Amino acid sequence: MVYLDHAATSPMRQVAVDAWIEHAGALNPGSQYGAGRRARSVLDDARESVAEIMGADPVEVIFTASGTEADNLAVQGLYRASELTRVVSTEIEHPAVGETVAALGADVEFLPVDRSGHVSDLSALETPAALATCMYANNETGAIQPVAEIVARAGDTPVHVDAVQAVAKLPIHFHDLGVTTLASSAHKFGGPRGAGFLLARRSPAPTAIIHGGGQERGIRPGTVDVASAAALAAALREAVGEMAAEDVRIAELRNTLRDNILATVDDVVVNSVEPVLPGHLHVSFPGADGDSMIMLLDSLGIEAATGSACHSGVNRMSHVLEAMGVQMSDGIGSLRLTLGRTTTAEDVDAVSRHLADVVARARVAGLR
Ligand code: PLP
Repeated sequence: MVYLDHAATSPMRQVAVDAWIEHAGALNPGSQYGAGRRARSVLDDARESVAEIMGADPVEVIFTASGTEADNLAVQGLYRASELTRVVSTEIEHPAVGETVAALGADVEFLPVDRSGHVSDLSALETPAALATCMYANNETGAIQPVAEIVARAGDTPVHVDAVQAVAKLPIHFHDLGVTTLASSAHKFGGPRGAGFLLARRSPAPTAIIHGGGQERGIRPGTVDVASAAALAAALREAVGEMAAEDVRIAELRNTLRDNILATVDDVVVNSVEPVLPGHLHVSFPGADGDSMIMLLDSLGIEAATGSACHSGVNRMSHVLEAMGVQMSDGIGSLRLTLGRTTTAEDVDAVSRHLADVVARARVAGLR
């Protein structure tokens, strides 16, 4: 099997499985007796690890049940915390942010994106807003966005960054970056699915959008899953420790795969353009049927995505390619190949050997 869908999710790291199993029996970390204090101490250790690795204070780490939840707590919470009704965002956000912004009922202005998938004009940030929100790196193309410049241009407007694809792929220091809130998801860096964190400065803090027992500064109330927090922290430590070397190794494999595709297939459009995450390769094959490519690759034991797995089942061009100005006839014949920790040179060889034939057959299917 060749797994090339690391942007959708990455297999759990053994250190995360071990931490998860070790702490599966942890009781309520809010209880005052011994078992509660022991659970609390495991949770405190996880919080301190995440804070240290991410350049935040422990109190700024809020454990959540997903990246989606972290995005919602920040976007809805910062909007509620403000008296303004204006929001600045982009048209390439993941639905965890895009749909949340749409549901606010706010007056939304979008930063435009150029053909390379990067936010290209920051002038909308000069008018004050309740919040500005921009992803760190796009989940489909891997395009890395100018977050530091966005923070500089935003002035007093709080900035939320969806860093779900970027954490443990790029060096990120929460305080140095200067954003107000940052969302991350454990399963993208080898932690468990169903676990994430929000980094949230003390001020301005998001107003609570769910209500309960006051855990996690009242921003994410509910009994915290201690085993998942410990597993998340273990995965993050290992992933960030390997990051510098892995980024080089994975980018080399990705570049080889891209060059092999360009050498063997006619009429290819590469949509992953620098600055880009090391593991992303988004390519369009005009005239090819996207679903046919996925099924043909699957029959060869190669697992990849068309557009984004988050919208699988819907055969239309992704909103990201649309925002980049890609023609519909080109964009629906796209593959997102995302490499990661388990990817080898043999995997790249296998895909390179089969892709020309797969695309040729998918182009025949596309004619129907
Ligand atoms: N934001 C981005 C950029 C993502 O890629 C994803 C997942 O694909 C999410 C948010 C949602 O994360 P989760 O799956 O943990 O809810």
